[in-house]
Formats: sequence, structure tokens, C-alpha cells
Amino acid sequence: MKRSDVIELFTRLREIDPHPTTELNYTTPFELLVAVVLSAQATDVGVNKATKKLYPVANTPQAILALGEEGLKRYISTIGLFNAKAKNVIALCRLLIEQHASEVPHTREALEALPGVGRKTANVVLNTAFGEPTIAVDTHIFRVANRTGLAPGKDVRTVEDKLVKVIPAEFKQDAHHWLILHGRYVCKARKPDCPQCVIRDLCRYKDKTVAG
Ligand code: SF4
Repeated sequence: MKRSDVIELFTRLREIDPHPTTELNYTTPFELLVAVVLSAQATDVGVNKATKKLYPVANTPQAILALGEEGLKRYISTIGLFNAKAKNVIALCRLLIEQHASEVPHTREALEALPGVGRKTANVVLNTAFGEPTIAVDTHIFRVANRTGLAPGKDVRTVEDKLVKVIPAEFKQDAHHWLILHGRYVCKARKPDCPQCVIRDLCRYKDKTVAG
């Protein structure tokens, strides 16, 4: 995609949503980190329902560790893969206490060393909690980047690297959320809503849907 088209694309996404953010509810970096770990292969709505009950009771590494794995499972049992996630969150809390003074670390290396935290989760936390211009490529971003021709690639890492390269600095901080929201609500997996899409004329997707 031409640089002028990339600028136009993000200018339009910014116009319809000047201050995009995650749909996961959180009030601290730790709450965000745990919510993102819980959100793997689960919906944000489902995670929010669980954390709405969990966080008033336990929203620090110490408090969640005190709940124990079984105690934590009672709050997150409606979320997919909750057994493995409970185990990871408990191990993550222990590590934060032992190695990071109970704080969420600000570096990619330290984040990715936490149980249950991969590159995507680290990118979300760096971007959303700490304001860094990282781009976490999830299924929505991967689809939008490929369909539009913004950053085509066969795997998420290729798409991430291309996005980091092609997105102008002024849009980088929020690009992650604009692309996720666009993928979630407009450029949907099974049937993209092309007639309603504000970037339709810039998009290179060959199978655009038509009205009616
Ligand atoms: S025109 Fe269609 S395929 Fe292209 S970004 Fe918009 S919704 Fe997605």
C-alpha cells in the first residue's frame, strides 16, 4: 500500500474513533496483564465478566496468590482453558513478587519471561499500560493487515514487523486498537461489512462484499 494511502487509512480510522482503547476492563497494569493472559482464545466480554468479580476481591499478585489455584479457578471457570490459565496466573503472581517487587515489568524480555505471557500479551501490556508504540497482532489485525494489503504476511510476526515499518509514527500508539476494532466490528472474519467500511476505496481485498 502506498504511504499516502496508509496515512489516509489511519486518518479515517482516527476520525471515527479518536481515542481507541482495549475493551478489557482494568485499572492497573497488573489487572491488564492478568486480563490479557485470561483472554487467550476467549472473548473480552467473557473475561470482563470474570474479572468484575475477581478484582474487587483480589487485584494484586499477593491477593491472587493467597486465593490459590483452586480459589482462582472459581472466578475464572467460565473462561476457556481456565485450568491452564489459573496455573499460569498463580505462577506469574509468584514471579512478580519474587523478581519484580510485585510490579509489572516494563520490558519485553521480562514480560515474556512470565508464565503464560507470549509476544502478543507483552505487546498489549507495553502498548496499553505503558504507552509504547508496539503492535500486538491478533487474529483481527492479521486479517485486516492481509485483506487491505497494509501489511500482508503469512504469519503474525511477519505482519507485526511490516506494520511497525509501514505505520507512520503519529498513528503507531493507537494503530493496534484501531485495527483490532476494525477487524472485530467491520472487517469481520466470515463476512466483512465492506459497504459500511470507511477504508473501502483504499482496501485491496478482492472479495469485497456488496450491499443487499
Ligand atoms: S473493504 Fe471490506 S475487506 Fe476491506 S477493510 Fe473494509 S471491510 Fe475489510
